[in-house]
Amino acid sequence: MENNNKGRIKRVTGPLVVAEGLPQVKMAEILRVGEEKIIGEVIRIEGDDVYVQVYEDTSGIGPGEPVFLTGESLAVELGPGLMSSIYDGIQRPLKDLIKESGSFIARGIEARALNTEKKWDFKPLKKKGDKVGPGDILGEVQETEFFIHKIMVPPNIEEGELESIADKGSYTIEEVIAKISKQEIKMAHKWPIRQPRPAKEKLLPTEALITGQRVIDTFFPVAKGGTGSVPGPFGSGKTVVQHQFAKWADADVIIFIGCGERGNEMTDLLNEFPEIKDPKTGRPLMERTVLIANTSNMPVAAREASIYTGITIAEYFRDMGYSVALLADSTSRWAEALREISGRLEEMPGEEGYPAYLGSRTAAFYERAGCFKCQGSDDRKGYLTVVGAVSPPGGDLSEPVTQNTLRVTKVFWALDSALAYKRHFPAINWLNSYSLYDLKDFFEEKGGENFNDYKIKAMEVLQQEAALEEIVRLIGVDALSLKDQFLLQMSKIIREDFLHQNAFLDVDSYTSIKKQYLMIRKIVDVYEEGLRKIEQGQKIEDILTPSLRESFSKMKLAEEEKLNENI
Ligand code: ADP
Repeated sequence: MENNNKGRIKRVTGPLVVAEGLPQVKMAEILRVGEEKIIGEVIRIEGDDVYVQVYEDTSGIGPGEPVFLTGESLAVELGPGLMSSIYDGIQRPLKDLIKESGSFIARGIEARALNTEKKWDFKPLKKKGDKVGPGDILGEVQETEFFIHKIMVPPNIEEGELESIADKGSYTIEEVIAKISKQEIKMAHKWPIRQPRPAKEKLLPTEALITGQRVIDTFFPVAKGGTGSVPGPFGSGKTVVQHQFAKWADADVIIFIGCGERGNEMTDLLNEFPEIKDPKTGRPLMERTVLIANTSNMPVAAREASIYTGITIAEYFRDMGYSVALLADSTSRWAEALREISGRLEEMPGEEGYPAYLGSRTAAFYERAGCFKCQGSDDRKGYLTVVGAVSPPGGDLSEPVTQNTLRVTKVFWALDSALAYKRHFPAINWLNSYSLYDLKDFFEEKGGENFNDYKIKAMEVLQQEAALEEIVRLIGVDALSLKDQFLLQMSKIIREDFLHQNAFLDVDSYTSIKKQYLMIRKIVDVYEEGLRKIEQGQKIEDILTPSLRESFSKMKLAEEEKLNENI
């Protein structure tokens, strides 16, 4: 029997191992490679040759060494203990890895993703005899100070009668807490990362994921359960935008996947993220965050897997009925891993050496986002919003990774280093960014009447400003009509008093949607009224009086109610 489970290495090329002598092997199966039993995944079978992408360093491993079948596919472990964790691309806890082997991670280390000894206080919500099926919530665990982990019937369990359920008490994830028609349920279960977790139905997103960032919510909103992308040129304020998003977005759970190229990028992430305070609770943001970090000394294959590891964990929290926001930084590094492995497989290269399936893989990843009716009899909704950063070399947005991303994501926040250089933060370029979500009704309801018209009007002013810039450069402001001169002054107000937002100033860091509405309404009202007054012969100075200007500049700092009175 033993021999059936064991083959040998034929050759090794970097992260790719070709094995033979494994007739029973299946696609996507996890193998243990070499004497050190490092982890690999089958990505192609060709005759007797089995191509394995290996998640650990392969140096020193050579032909003739054994390869073992496991019968399993690459899966994540899901249960209490996920929150606050920092994992590598295949869900090995980084702390444990580093503790065991120093900062250079040794090979073949078995590290369980979840703590198997810790006892969690389980509170049952169902009783013996209840009919339950996949997605039904059996009980709850207070995982961190403010986060309740729902213990659900896993998707692959058959519906049936609850034969037994554990009493209120403390249990480890290894203990059986319920039995459904002979099937044993524990608080944790595994799910293969390349297979989306099932939901009852994918719904059309109708709500915005409010972030409190004015340029995003008012002009380029992302739907709750939507997709967005953001390029990240160096020094453009990308980190601040991501942190603001993680802190303030209307999400219960944050999943952050870091695919850094340079080691220090990841070090920054690992140092900075745990320091962030959750403005909603005053506790560390990590208490509702899972971090996946690919450090530079990890093999490319782990980077390839990391986005699936991350999104599967995100789907698990979505299934509980939460709003989950996943940030991946940067998906370009993921695509490069895909390219490297494809190269080793000697596949026909597509554009710029990326495999022809780059587009379909990118689309399949973002398609896992959405607003869902979750499994379970209570018809709860869960949201998974996915935002991916891309890092186009030289800022060239026509390169394949950016293009494939733009094709599938519905929002684009064009971070612009020129704006950052001028210290216009957040440096999201309002002329190139877009949002394809129709959230008009949502904003009219949450913001106020005619919100949409105000947004459109304000954006027109900004666009006209850009069109006038060239003329101004050539012949000066004085050559413009009074109306155009007034427009330029108003667009400056929009830029400086609305779009500018200081992430480090407490009163300005977050703006409620109501306040965003009042601010933009005030600007547009003054603009339209001003145009009428100019027609009647009034001067710009008499319209934009110093006190009016001052009230604009104080708008950001004003309380919502005050703003309402002002108008
Ligand atoms: P990147 O990650 O793109 O290299 P950072 O996000 O670290 O850039 O931003 C660089 C600097 O820009 C920050 O240290 C900060 O001083 C400034 N900055 C960026 N965004 C903002 C913001 N919203 N408000 C105020 N300052 C900002």
